[in-house]
Amino acid sequence: MLDLAIIGGGPAGLTAGLYATRGGLKNVIMFEMGLPGGQITQSSEIENYPGVFREDPPLTGMELMEPWPKQCMHFGLKHEMAEVKQVKKDGDIFKVITSSGEYDAKSVIVCTGSTPKKAGFKGEDEFFGKGISTCATCDGFFYKDKEVAVLGGGDTALEEALYLANICSKVYVIHRRDKFRAAPPTVERAKKNEKIEFILNATVKEAYGSDKGLEGIIIEQNGKEIDLKVSGLFVFVGRIVNNQVLKQDDGSYLCDLNDWGEVLVNLKMHTSTPGLYAAGDIRVDAPKQVVCAAGDGATAGMEALNYVQEKFND
Ligand code: FAD
Ligand code: NAP
Repeated sequence: MLDLAIIGGGPAGLTAGLYATRGGLKNVIMFEMGLPGGQITQSSEIENYPGVFREDPPLTGMELMEPWPKQCMHFGLKHEMAEVKQVKKDGDIFKVITSSGEYDAKSVIVCTGSTPKKAGFKGEDEFFGKGISTCATCDGFFYKDKEVAVLGGGDTALEEALYLANICSKVYVIHRRDKFRAAPPTVERAKKNEKIEFILNATVKEAYGSDKGLEGIIIEQNGKEIDLKVSGLFVFVGRIVNNQVLKQDDGSYLCDLNDWGEVLVNLKMHTSTPGLYAAGDIRVDAPKQVVCAAGDGATAGMEALNYVQEKFND
């Protein structure tokens, strides 16, 4: 029987493992279907994780995460390279069903993150990380005093456009309709912002550039093409919350989620199910930053430790 099963090996899962094992839990497995490190390993530069800044060349996400697993394993965390299919609870015991077998566990921390959706235009993959981004907090600063574009008409697109307007010289918001999903007060704030210009009833057809990065985008509006010369395009067309492991056979979820599938937690990362915690980008109101995911992981790891010791007298 596992003391703790951690699902996902990004910054949240690894930090949860570090705190739980170093705090005294003996039998802890982190199920991560790929190499540990999480989505930040896709990033070519990270300059907002405190204490590890490097200017030239910039620190990559891979370099940031490289030492984390070794530190966790030192204190006893085990990594099982397997995909978790489902987590169930029978009485006080969780059942973790994975691609490599089934495990019983006294507690579970879910850290499977969330994935930005793609819009599907030509060049989106080619220039991802080279001008195309899905995170204004992460990458906005690289476009200080430059012109950028935002794609989408939801709350995320308009809130992030407002954030970018604090940094960039101009922000074009491209949206495929003239009605917005975003809350009306957010739309009003964006419309009043002098740096934001809307390009409505328009879609991005293609992103182009060179091996140095994005140079511009071709927009289609009312049958005409617009060539917009921007070196940054922020795509906010929704996110997939990776909550599938919590789905039960009857279609319900093992714990409470909000309307868009994020796991509801309190400040201690407790879900509505005792012994089940959620940390990082999968949880409600996550700032979607490495430092925050790691903080959540630490909180969840300490809470799982307390729960197992109190509940099972370990
Ligand atoms: P993730 O890092 O998403 O990790 C989740 C892990 O769970 C993944 O490794 C996945 O393989 C695994 N997993 C999912 N489902 C299963 C399953 N069923 N079974 C087993 N394993 C599973 N943040 C910053 O702070 N600064 C930045 O500059 C920055 N730049 C970024 C640039 C890019 C290109 C990207 C993509 C993200 C960036 N971020 C940045 C955001 C940051 O990466 C995330 O906020 C952070 O990684 C979230 O950590 P997490 O542990 O919650 O989830
Ligand atoms: P969202 O509400 O689903 O909005 C996605 C936007 O992208 C929509 O405007 C959609 O256009 C557009 N879009 C989708 N696919 C596209 C494509 N292929 N090409 C071009 N445009 C495309 O996603 P979100 O903004 O990430 O928000 C997700 C949820 O979180 C929402 O429920 C939102 O309210 C919530 N949220 C709340 C807050 C807050 O309360 N402060 C902040 C952020 C997010 P259409 O409108 O035409 O479909």
